[in-house]
Amino acid sequence: MQSGGLVSQSAPAIVWFREDLRLSDNPALHAAVASHRPLILLYIHDEETDGLRHHGGASKWWLDKSLRALAGDIEAAGAQLTLRSGKSNEVLDAVLNVTGADAVFWNRRYDKPERDLDARIKADLTERRIDVTSYNGRLLNEPWAVETNAGGYYKVFTPYWKQARQCINARDTYGRHKTLNGPDVDSESLDDWGLHPTKPDWSTGFDDWTPGEDGALARLKEFLDGPINGYKDNRDRPDLDWSTSGLSPHLRFGEIGPLQIWRAVHAGMEAGNIHEKDGMHFLSEVGWREFSHTLLYYNPDLATENYNDSFQHMPWRTDETALDAWKKGQTGYPMVDAGMRQLWQTGWMHNRVRMIVASFLTKHLLLPWQEGEKWFWDTLVDADPANNSASWQWTAGSGADAAPYFRVFNPISQGTKFDESGDYVRRFCPELKDLPDKYLHAPWEADKATLKKAGITLGETYPKPIVDHSAARQRALDAYDTLKEKRDAS
Ligand SMILES: Cc1cc2nc3c(=O)[nH]c(=O)nc-3n(C[C@H](O)[C@H](O)[C@H](O)COP(=O)(O)OP(=O)(O)OC[C@H]3O[C@@H](n4cnc5c(N)ncnc54)[C@H](O)[C@@H]3O)c2cc1C
Repeated sequence: MQSGGLVSQSAPAIVWFREDLRLSDNPALHAAVASHRPLILLYIHDEETDGLRHHGGASKWWLDKSLRALAGDIEAAGAQLTLRSGKSNEVLDAVLNVTGADAVFWNRRYDKPERDLDARIKADLTERRIDVTSYNGRLLNEPWAVETNAGGYYKVFTPYWKQARQCINARDTYGRHKTLNGPDVDSESLDDWGLHPTKPDWSTGFDDWTPGEDGALARLKEFLDGPINGYKDNRDRPDLDWSTSGLSPHLRFGEIGPLQIWRAVHAGMEAGNIHEKDGMHFLSEVGWREFSHTLLYYNPDLATENYNDSFQHMPWRTDETALDAWKKGQTGYPMVDAGMRQLWQTGWMHNRVRMIVASFLTKHLLLPWQEGEKWFWDTLVDADPANNSASWQWTAGSGADAAPYFRVFNPISQGTKFDESGDYVRRFCPELKDLPDKYLHAPWEADKATLKKAGITLGETYPKPIVDHSAARQRALDAYDTLKEKRDAS
């Protein structure tokens, strides 16, 4: 869907990059190039408009590298990425005034504060006879495009995805723009934005990532060239390299679009290079991303308010010490601690482990899911307003199509099942590396001699469990019962 009218051919146009930091299959850029105007390629670092949620620390790290990559790609194409900071509307006005541009192109966003801002800007510019056209560059289907027979949005994933697959835009992807023309405009320096952490620089473990469009396309190629075959069976194995694609931060910043992934996977399946069951399963995970965006669109407070109202009665605890132990990977449960340390060290965590640590926080510790959402927002390179809030609510039991609250993940058996080799825990909790497999996920069960031989003193070199699994599980179930009672009484 495209909104807006025709533009004249002479004055420059602004392409406003936001969550679409790529030159290929970028509908707004594609349309702007097709208008044959000189282009001002603009990114605005807006930490001033009220109500916008600012990037967390790890996302800022990624944004810094992603913008450097985009600037390099644009330069190689013969143009310039203009960087400005400040309130989006004021920056746009300033750039429009100084360049005489009379058109703006952008790809749409779906969280409410950004949508409202875009609507205000569009109304204002249109009134001043500046043409604004917007496009879908972020989703296979925009939230309003997939409706139930009754006319509402889907609240359950399986029927959603069945219907969504039928609605996907049949267009071919747009190739990369290799030549871009436009005037030079005063630009700020990325170095002055302070996106890269310095005091201290905690990002030294992030080096395996290659932010930017080239990094995204290379990762997709590598994944589709091999690891995708086996995805259905391996995707729950954090101990295996490439058990999943690792594309989430690239998708978050729009260095690759979902239609590029969709087309590439289908091409691989048609050529017989990708097994249908693996290809389709992988695409259904991309479908969860779509579903989450729909939930966010229709529930703007998804990051803070329970989707399922009855959870307002949940007797969550307050316990700063336990929350801190969880954040630092010091709970005494190796699978939980390995996950939280992977997050801190690399800015990312495997999906299976995200579910385990989220279940641990909301059930074993009985702490509100919003605390976890906020910590992930700050520490994930892929922190996403839709995926993060929908997934936290899913795990906590308060979300749409959620895992029932009474399904409490057992961090010990989840460890033995999904980190069978123990490589994952040994990598992120190296103090446990010499423990035999049998005790790796429950070190407190090892006898003194075994612990001594492995160089472990519980409570000193590695924490004792901060809660007893069975007692904590029962406490969670009891809390859930009181919620049910209160809900039924109200
Ligand atoms: C508590 C919790 C918080 C999460 N927070 C985020 C977040 O902030 N950002 C984020 O992108 N994902 C989040 N997820 C979803 C999921 O864990 C990640 O998308 C996935 O681990 C990314 O790794 P990948 O790219 O290798 O995934 P792959 O398995 O290769 O999947 C491909 C793509 O599909 C999408 N996807 C996969 N699983 C999900 C899912 N369950 N929900 C929505 N989209 C999915 C992602 O865009 C992903 O890149 C969260 C999950 C949980 C349980």
